[in-house]
Amino acid sequence: KKFEDLKLDQRILQGIYAMNFLKPSKIQERALPLLLLNPPTNMIGQSQSGTGKTAAFVLNILMRCDLSTLQPQALVLAPSRELARQIIGVVETMGRFLENLKVIAGIPDPSQRGKKLEGQIIVGTPGTITDVIRRRLLDVTNLKVLVLDEADNMLDQTGLGDQCKRVKALLPKTVQLVLFSATFPDHVVNYARQFAPNANQITL
Ligand code: AMP
Repeated sequence: KKFEDLKLDQRILQGIYAMNFLKPSKIQERALPLLLLNPPTNMIGQSQSGTGKTAAFVLNILMRCDLSTLQPQALVLAPSRELARQIIGVVETMGRFLENLKVIAGIPDPSQRGKKLEGQIIVGTPGTITDVIRRRLLDVTNLKVLVLDEADNMLDQTGLGDQCKRVKALLPKTVQLVLFSATFPDHVVNYARQFAPNANQITL
C-alpha cells in the first residue's frame, strides 16, 4: 500500500514526502481508510509507541479542516505539554504546503486578553483545554474531530479522564472521536468504548 492510494490531498502528500516517509506504517495503512470515511466514524486504535500513530491522526485532521477560516475544527488532547508540543510540530511539518493552516497550543495568550483562540487545529492537555473552554476562549461550535493521544494514559487517571469526558460533553454531538494508545488494558477498553461509541477498533 502506498500513500498515493489513500486519497490524500496533493499538498498533504508533498508534506509526507518532505518528511521522507516512503510508505504508510501498519497502523497508518489500517487506520487511515477508516478515519477518512464519510460520514466520519469513531476509532479506537492500539499500536505500540513509535509505530506512526501521530501521523495517522494528523493526516485525518488535515484532510478534514476547512482552511478558508481560522475557526477551530480539530482538537487534540495529550497527557503532557511536551507531547502537545511534539504533535504541533508534526502538524506543522506535514501541513507545511497547506496555505492558511494554523495550529496552536490550547493555552490563553496573555498578550491577547480575552481574544478567542484562532486556528483550525488546537492541541493541549485536558487541563488547559478545560480552562480555555470555561473562559470562553475556545469556540467549539465548529469542531469536527476530537483526538485523544495516549488515551490509555488519560482515561486511566481519574482527574484526566474526567476532564476528557467534560471536554467531550461540551462539543457538538457529531464530533468524530479518535482514540489512540499504545495499550488498552481491559478496564480502559470499556471506558474507551463508552467514550467513543460504535468505534472501529484496530489492534496491532
Ligand atoms: P509516532 O509513533 O507517531 O511517535 O512516530 C514514531 C516515528 O516514526 C516518528 O519519528 C515519525 O516521524 C516516524 N514515522 C511515522 N510514520 C512513518 C512512515 N510512514 N514512514 C517512516 N517513518 C514514519
